[in-house]
Amino acid sequence: MYDVVIIGGGPGGYAAALYAHNFGLSVALVEKDRVGGTCLLRGCIPAKAWLQTAGVYAAVRRAAEFGVITEPPQLDWGAALRRKNDVVDGLVRGLSGLLKARNVDIIDGYGRFSSGRNVEVVDDAGIRTLEASNVIIATGSVPRSIPGYAFDGHRIVSSDEALDWTERPQRVAIIGGGVIGCEFASLLGETGSEVHIFEMLDQLLPGTEPDAVKVLSRHFRKLGVNATTGVAVGPPQVHAGGVVVPAGDTTIDVDVVLVAVGRAPVTADLGLEQTAVQLDRGYVVADLTTMLTAQPNVYAVGDVVAGTPQLAHAGFAEGIAAVTHIATGEPAPVDYRAIPLVVYTHPEVASVGLTETQAREQGFDVEVTEHGMRGVGRAIIQGETGGMVKLVAERGGRVLGATVAGPAAGEMIHELMYVVAWEAMPAEAATLIHAHPTLSETIGETLLGAAGRPLH
Ligand code: FAD
Repeated sequence: MYDVVIIGGGPGGYAAALYAHNFGLSVALVEKDRVGGTCLLRGCIPAKAWLQTAGVYAAVRRAAEFGVITEPPQLDWGAALRRKNDVVDGLVRGLSGLLKARNVDIIDGYGRFSSGRNVEVVDDAGIRTLEASNVIIATGSVPRSIPGYAFDGHRIVSSDEALDWTERPQRVAIIGGGVIGCEFASLLGETGSEVHIFEMLDQLLPGTEPDAVKVLSRHFRKLGVNATTGVAVGPPQVHAGGVVVPAGDTTIDVDVVLVAVGRAPVTADLGLEQTAVQLDRGYVVADLTTMLTAQPNVYAVGDVVAGTPQLAHAGFAEGIAAVTHIATGEPAPVDYRAIPLVVYTHPEVASVGLTETQAREQGFDVEVTEHGMRGVGRAIIQGETGGMVKLVAERGGRVLGATVAGPAAGEMIHELMYVVAWEAMPAEAATLIHAHPTLSETIGETLLGAAGRPLH
């Protein structure tokens, strides 16, 4: 009998398994693939490895501007793919070693409920049952498509296949201008593909501060990425040489279509009918203070949970919350108000807390302060002055949310995470001094502006 059986070895599941060690709990982690989940194998890590290649390529192309003379750079797509795979393999090996060092039993196979609390594992050798005091559902998500765009792995693909392209596609249509669509547009645009990105809503990165999206859109225009918003694509026509995609009044002919319209939860064939677990449109309904489902002693974490962000670090936090409740009986809820969201495009776009629109919708009387990077020394040194910081605060009160667009936005946002989570007043936070010359000085300037005493 295990204290905890976890179905799914992605960020939600493996974080729960690792954290359980702190309480001396016995753990079995059931995984049908390698450990690491979408994030390590088909998501965060491989996507960022590719974006790193694109970033290096872009930097070398600009080398002469910085007085560094190089041969015109060439992109070795095969070498970049191998490096991506090496990065992934190294992290998977490291994670497997860490799980073993923490005495987690990694059970290869497909897990599903055989009763309210027991899990059966199906593998080539047959079926065996694991008895458990507690079960954590951490089965994650898979790419979803739209009618007419069934994935064929060749002409119409998801991010799963795109991360393993063995050569760079010349002409690509990306359906969906959210985080994944924009990251691929950035990578492919930066490395020389003809890119068309279509978003049904009225801006790329829906839900993001429009001024931050403008920073990215400007860069996309420079790269020649064609972004069309407010348009729904029609049914595609696959032909011998590619795919014709109708979009609004035009049609485009591309080599491949990447569909990036979101991800669906993995809850079919889990034996949930043996339990009292409730689903909402396929997602598991959990009490977000404990991560408990409607079935006693059965928890859910990560992308499979209804109503929480589909982010690896949200999964980590929910894994910790579930295990803490199992071990102590006390709720240790995740603070969803201050989970940073980073889009790793070039330039990056990162946010935390409420946008101006969300704050107004929630009835706050808001004050907004923005500071651009145009005059910021470090940004000028780096030759990347298009960025900005935006702060949304309650009038005369605490900071409710912030967005950064520009180089290193994904690192800078963490300072603002504390400001939002700890409900800092701009005037308090503005007394702290940023090192010069740094990009983070833009945050210092924005806080001074929000406190009513701008410097530069
Ligand atoms: P998953 O990572 O999906 O893991 C679920 C695991 O469960 C899988 O390993 C699966 O094989 C296993 N499983 C499922 N069913 C069973 C079963 N019945 N039996 C056994 N095993 C089973 N998030 C970020 O925070 N930052 C990023 O930069 C980022 N980039 C991304 C880029 C891309 C291209 C994609 C697709 C996603 C990205 N994400 C990013 C999202 C992130 O990958 C997910 O939020 C995260 O992986 C969710 O973790 P999870 O543990 O809930 O599920």
